[in-house]
Amino acid sequence: MSKNIQFLDLTAQYPKIREKIQKRFETIIDNSAFIANDNVAEFEEKFAQYSDAKHCIAVNNGTTALMLALMAYDIGTGDEVIVPANTFIATAEAVSVLGATPVLVDMDPKTYLIDAAKIEERITENTKAIIPVHLYGQTADMDAVNEIAEKHNLAVIEDACQAHGASYKGKKAGSLGNIAAFSCYPGKNLGAWGEAGAVTTNDDALAEKMRLITSHGSKIKYHHEVVGANFRINEFQGAVLAVKMDYIEEWNQSRRDNAQMYLDTLADMENIQLPAVPEGNTPVWHLFVIQLKSGDREAFMKHMEDNGVGVGIHYPVPLHMTPAYEPILSYKKGDFPESENAQDMIVSLPMYAELPKEDVAYVCETIKKYDWQ
Ligand SMILES: *Cc1c(COP(=O)(O)O)cnc(C)c1O
Repeated sequence: MSKNIQFLDLTAQYPKIREKIQKRFETIIDNSAFIANDNVAEFEEKFAQYSDAKHCIAVNNGTTALMLALMAYDIGTGDEVIVPANTFIATAEAVSVLGATPVLVDMDPKTYLIDAAKIEERITENTKAIIPVHLYGQTADMDAVNEIAEKHNLAVIEDACQAHGASYKGKKAGSLGNIAAFSCYPGKNLGAWGEAGAVTTNDDALAEKMRLITSHGSKIKYHHEVVGANFRINEFQGAVLAVKMDYIEEWNQSRRDNAQMYLDTLADMENIQLPAVPEGNTPVWHLFVIQLKSGDREAFMKHMEDNGVGVGIHYPVPLHMTPAYEPILSYKKGDFPESENAQDMIVSLPMYAELPKEDVAYVCETIKKYDWQ
């Protein structure tokens, strides 16, 4: 029998939550309170608690969450912000949109996370913040990042868009820097039914400022205290997220179980580098990324697809080599060798909470059947 294992199957999650969410949707329609109301407040409370943070402010997506965090520090024209070269482009976009310049740092080749040992050499008198990205659901080396930030008086903004619930030495993503930005894009570990995101912080003043900016700089309608914007989330997404918060830990655990099975089953494969998990890290496996040590990635991916296994590449081009950034940042090929090397050999395997164990086993079998030579 031929298999069809999707890279990500969003529909697998609906049966469990559909009715609860539909009920809330009907109430929202009956009340016609469509923007940031009770459901959003409930989500914010649950998410702050889950992330070990004092405050959560829900916003309309992860990119604006990052922008909001930068705006809370008045970062703009002339400022520089440290960002990993290996990340989803939104990390850098948030910096660029505000008129500041993303300054890139290469990754650690084992974890794919920002190499903290390479941050300090990129700091100038214009540097205002560091954005470590908890890529693929694993927290960056936050002790090292925070130490550098403290020494140079920089803000630390976690890009936790892929890391809801991940922990670092017992503390959750969302509480590891000054502010954290989360995305609730449908494909993320905590996904809305549309666009959504959030910021968390333990700092009262930053929280208040971000809440103001999110809603046109006003607490009271038409009384504008600062120049803000409209980053508000709608109530329907608040309802989806409030319901999903009751399951997020169970879903993350299920991802961890699937990841462990991949790690155990593929441990003896010489042709593959498995993702490294440093001591003290508990990832939530937004993605499970392997790296081919040799051979032809295109042929490998075709073998997987031909056998009914969906695979992906996260991400195919490092930021400094994208058509978006290549012309405007002063980098060239070779500047970030670890990111560049990995980008040609990484492959993301199917990973989501509902992915059945027998499918994980089948994916592993299919990898083992590949003719490596
Ligand atoms: C998804 C993501 C973002 C942006 O989130 P959106 O909700 O899509 O705007 C930012 N950074 C990283 C690392 C992401 O994965």
